[in-house]
Amino acid sequence: MLQPLRGPVQYISTRGAAAPVAFEGALLAGLAPDGGLYVPQVWPHFSEAEIAAFAGMSYAQVAARVLKAFAGDSLSEAQALALCVDAYATFDHPAAAPLVQLDANRWLLELFRGPTLAFKDVAMQMLARLYDKVLGERGERMTIVAATSGDTGGAAVEAFRGAKHVRLVILFPDGRISDVQRRFMTTPTDANIACLSVSGDFDDCQSIVKGLFRDTAFKDEVALSGVNSINWARIAAQSVYYFTAAVALGAPGRKVRFVTPTGNFGDAFAGHVAAQMGLPIDGITIATNANDILARAVTTGRYARGEGVATSSPAMDIQVASNFERLFFEASGRDAALTASAFEGFAATGALELPHAVLTAIRLRFDGEAVSEAQTLATMADYWRRTGELVDPHTAVGLAAADRIAPSDTPVVTLSTASPAKFPEAVAAAIPGVIAAHARADRLSGLPERMTPIAADAEAVKAFIREFARA
Ligand SMILES: *Cc1c(COP(=O)(O)O)cnc(C)c1O
Repeated sequence: MLQPLRGPVQYISTRGAAAPVAFEGALLAGLAPDGGLYVPQVWPHFSEAEIAAFAGMSYAQVAARVLKAFAGDSLSEAQALALCVDAYATFDHPAAAPLVQLDANRWLLELFRGPTLAFKDVAMQMLARLYDKVLGERGERMTIVAATSGDTGGAAVEAFRGAKHVRLVILFPDGRISDVQRRFMTTPTDANIACLSVSGDFDDCQSIVKGLFRDTAFKDEVALSGVNSINWARIAAQSVYYFTAAVALGAPGRKVRFVTPTGNFGDAFAGHVAAQMGLPIDGITIATNANDILARAVTTGRYARGEGVATSSPAMDIQVASNFERLFFEASGRDAALTASAFEGFAATGALELPHAVLTAIRLRFDGEAVSEAQTLATMADYWRRTGELVDPHTAVGLAAADRIAPSDTPVVTLSTASPAKFPEAVAAAIPGVIAAHARADRLSGLPERMTPIAADAEAVKAFIREFARA
């Protein structure tokens, strides 16, 4: 069933026990009340002609078409366009997400041209403007709490700093993120921003935040909202660059293959979304670092937590890939009861055997590649020597996975998720003597930093947030 681009778009939960909500509901709620994740009840669809017409549009114009398709009546076409033009004016490249050619048919998709030099800006700049519009109309104020593996935090701080309707609390794993990542979060002085440096890893931060959302009394008390990668509007915003990249390389007349460096599976799932909306995609490779739960799941059929290890690509040091539930739901033929029991079971045991039919459906679109730390650093050095491209370690994980794809006529696009200037330590380790710098990062060094150290303890975090919300 195809959905027209007008009329209400409803969002349902992957666990089937929450009432459908409109776009604003999915935006502000993050997690559905039954613990599931929101997905559109019916995928909006673009015809081949509509996709072909994207070739003559700016990034913001394509983004507005996609946003409007997901927002339905919640946003007029003119509002969607104004919002997207404003969001992507913060980027330092007129194409917002430019393609860089590596060889005959291999490409890098630069997603780090935003204010905090990582792809999280693409979604967060749109999200902050959506919050501002929706909360402004309602005359409400909310407390956004987000766990970050490094880049979401900075992107959210930059997007929401000074926002009238939002206070923002970021939890990041102490010592597990780069100095530049930390400074993007801790140097802004706006009163509506607070950063918590948690003694634990990203999975600890994420599970504390999930716990806050399960505590409905607390959630109501502070008007909690979430912008983690489970937020539907983030996924929607990220599907845009799959369209612009594919169309630039000949879609819809030609299929394109994507390689997506993956942690929480939001970015890779956004590729699935673009495909469901009609974009011909030849396949998506899920590239993981040594934290390889997703690569293992796709190769072996067993989705099981492993031991978290710290790598030079910290934004992907994730064992529980929240958005995987959305893919499971889709691959099960949208079987909410099966999805609920599978993920409740996973929460209890840390492991999940994918039913044969689910695995088969996943493999129709995705394959998985795990890349070791040594391969990551070697790939950075190799591309620097061969092509002159300096890439960050997350992008290098993607390129190492892309290198394993047999050469063919199909263009292969690797998503470049961060600027190397965000990870100068890793660049120096991989390519001695090379310094990765960017003015947007340099101007933060030496500025005073504001953060509160805190134990990996939900009650301590709640106490902090209560106090902050009162102030
Ligand atoms: C967040 C992030 C990723 C992983 O994206 P997911 O949507 O969590 O899969 C990869 N690279 C960088 C630089 C990131 O910040």
